[in-house]
Amino acid sequence: MKKITIAIDGYSSTGKSTVAKQLAKHLGYIYVDSGAMYRAVTYFAMQHGCIDHNQFDKAALLSILDDVAISFKFNPALGYAEVYLNGENVEKAIRTLAVSEFVSQIAAVPEIRAQLVKIQKEMGGNKGVVMDGRDIGTVVFPNAELKLFMTASPEIRAERRYNELLQRGEDVSFEAVLRNVKDRDFIDSNRKDSPLIKASDAIEIDNTDMDLKEQYDVILNLVNQVLNKA
Ligand code: C5P
Repeated sequence: MKKITIAIDGYSSTGKSTVAKQLAKHLGYIYVDSGAMYRAVTYFAMQHGCIDHNQFDKAALLSILDDVAISFKFNPALGYAEVYLNGENVEKAIRTLAVSEFVSQIAAVPEIRAQLVKIQKEMGGNKGVVMDGRDIGTVVFPNAELKLFMTASPEIRAERRYNELLQRGEDVSFEAVLRNVKDRDFIDSNRKDSPLIKASDAIEIDNTDMDLKEQYDVILNLVNQVLNKA
């Protein structure tokens, strides 16, 4: 069967990666979490003193950007690829609220986007890929056969993210998570380079009132419609 490209964009914590992983597993496709790449650069910036007391030294980060090597390695136990930064598995380290609080500022820098988009295009060059992010259907794969745009109310998204962070043992407040979700949506939607917008040919999925199974069924149905035509 012909392989396609599936681009999943949308607001923060809308469950993009959950459904992307499910689809990739079902179809035998590669799954790429592009947000993990922006998070890895943010983590690198924090480790190298480019972020301090809510200040971000863009020039300092750009001067060492060539030292950032991001890769993905499939973890059979988890069933998806984990992100590595210069050979270190940073899958856990990049999911903290501290990283979330800076990642949108880092992701607004055109030089950083250009570098990561180049890698993303290469990873999906042979199709058979499910990639989630903010600009996948608009910039990375504008010709993707299926584009989804995920949305849900900020409160429900913050609640899901809050529970996830609690399960990982992070000591955070719901208010801080909600503020972060809203702040990131604002920065991501209003930046000059590749803002988060729904591609004109993307299908919007509002999962505020959907459980995971309902969401997967709706999306799998869309995938099958496209595959049947491909
Ligand atoms: O998907 P996730 O919430 O982990 O993404 C973290 C951040 O990375 C987003 O809030 C956004 O600022 C940035 N991002 C982006 N473009 C992408 C993926 C993520 O700007 N394709």
